[in-house]
Amino acid sequence: MSGDATTSPAAAVPAPQLQSRLTCPACGHARTETMPTDACQWFYACTHCGELLRPKPGDCCVFCSYGSVACPPVQAEGRGCCG
Ligand SMILES: [Zn+2]
Repeated sequence: MSGDATTSPAAAVPAPQLQSRLTCPACGHARTETMPTDACQWFYACTHCGELLRPKPGDCCVFCSYGSVACPPVQAEGRGCCG
């Protein structure tokens, strides 16, 4: 026991960031959401104004269009699950 509190395996591929800050294009409200790693999220209802966000053309999910961080598949491979 050496007392290491935060040891992480030295992987070649960095772990994808799962928290993305979604900004509503209608009202500008931003909220940090956790992204699913196994599926793309196509719809997101703004918690402030209720606007239903959809991916822009060419984007695979709402996080790619409106989030501060691209979705996990894009982080890992540079493209979305449907790209
Ligand atoms: Zn909104």
